[in-house]
Amino acid sequence: MPPVKIVTDERCTGYSREGHPERPARISTTVELLKSQTELPIAWAAPGLVSDAQILRAHSPALLARLHIPRDFDADTPFCENIAGFARASVGASLAALKAARDSENVFSLMRPPGHHATRDHAMGFCYLNNIAIAVLEALATGSKRVAVFDFDVHHGNGTEAILLDRPGCAYFSIHQFPCYPGTGATDAGTNCFNYPVAPGEPRETWRATFAQALGDLKKFRPDLVAVSAGFDAYARDPLADGMLLAEDFHWLGKSLRGLGVPLFSLLEGGYSKDLPELIFAYLKGVEGSGFSK
Ligand SMILES: [Zn+2]
Repeated sequence: MPPVKIVTDERCTGYSREGHPERPARISTTVELLKSQTELPIAWAAPGLVSDAQILRAHSPALLARLHIPRDFDADTPFCENIAGFARASVGASLAALKAARDSENVFSLMRPPGHHATRDHAMGFCYLNNIAIAVLEALATGSKRVAVFDFDVHHGNGTEAILLDRPGCAYFSIHQFPCYPGTGATDAGTNCFNYPVAPGEPRETWRATFAQALGDLKKFRPDLVAVSAGFDAYARDPLADGMLLAEDFHWLGKSLRGLGVPLFSLLEGGYSKDLPELIFAYLKGVEGSGFSK
């Protein structure tokens, strides 16, 4: 079986704010699990470099400059030393994942910070630069014709939606809890952003049916590339929201996405429970085509 490519860099654990749920252990414990298991062959890869021009397709020069000003962005989104460097490395991993997907590899970017809340002008919601939007705009600028984003993080990707809104050649499909942070995503937006809100505490069956509906709509868009914002915070024991999903649901999601038969890459967004490594592992096995085992 061909290996799963994991794009990561242990330096992404090099910043933190005490008590913050978006913490370095999210990555280090996942790397540990992936290194200790024997079910899934893994090829480890490092993030590539990213140019200002690639970032500036999605963001304003003012945001790039702001990342160097040592002042918190909001109550959720602290300034940390060299946060610009950490954010750029996470973008670099998303671009490496894009390249691997185009080479027909099975690939996952295991990095922090996440990105889907970052808008053109603002860092927010633990996010500084919008990794997935930058990768989608790179794909469109370099030959992809129809790129779909599938976002299963429990929070609405307001930043991705705002950046991709009405851009030709791409579409955004987000399944998320509503009401919930950041308060957007109740209805569709523009011509290409499709939102599937799920009420707090809805059972797994509702989530699965909603995922299936979104995947059906995504198929109708006929993408030649699918970019996945993979957040694991709709998990039943996640501390930040009221989703009800279990590890096997993330496995099912991975399998369903692979079943689209379209080149695919996934980037880590949220996921704050201590079980995050098992959830990512279940998802990777689904994407790869292995069965689910506890
Ligand atoms: Zn989230």
